[in-house]
Amino acid sequence: MSGTALAELTAALAVRELQLRTRLVRNGHAVPEADITHDVADLKDRAAEGAQQAVDDAEADVLRGQHARVGAALRRAHEHRYGLCLACGEAISLERLRALPEAELCLPCQRTQEGVRRTPPAR
Ligand SMILES: [Zn+2]
Repeated sequence: MSGTALAELTAALAVRELQLRTRLVRNGHAVPEADITHDVADLKDRAAEGAQQAVDDAEADVLRGQHARVGAALRRAHEHRYGLCLACGEAISLERLRALPEAELCLPCQRTQEGVRRTPPAR
C-alpha cells in the first residue's frame, strides 16, 4: 500500500474513532479508552432518558462494536499491519478499505464467513 493511501485511510479511521466516541459519550455511555475531554463530558449531560434509553443501549452496543473495530484498525496501522486480512493475511483491496477503513477481512474471507453464518443448521 502506498504511503498516501495509508495516510488517507488512517485519517479516515481517526475521524471515525472520534465520531463514534462522541456519539457514545453524548448518549451517556462510557467509552473504553478513557481519554474523554471535558468538552465531550459536557455532552454527556444531554443524555437521553427513559424509554429512549433502551434504544440508546442497543445503538450503543453497535457503536461500541464499531468503535472497537476502528480502534483495532488504528492499532494495526501503528504496528504496520494495516490492510492485511486477519484470516488469510492477504492485502485487503484499497477499494474495500476506502469503503470500510476498519475492515478486518478481505472480501473473499468475509464472504466465506458470511456464507458459513447463513447456512441453516442441518436437521
Ligand atoms: Zn482473507
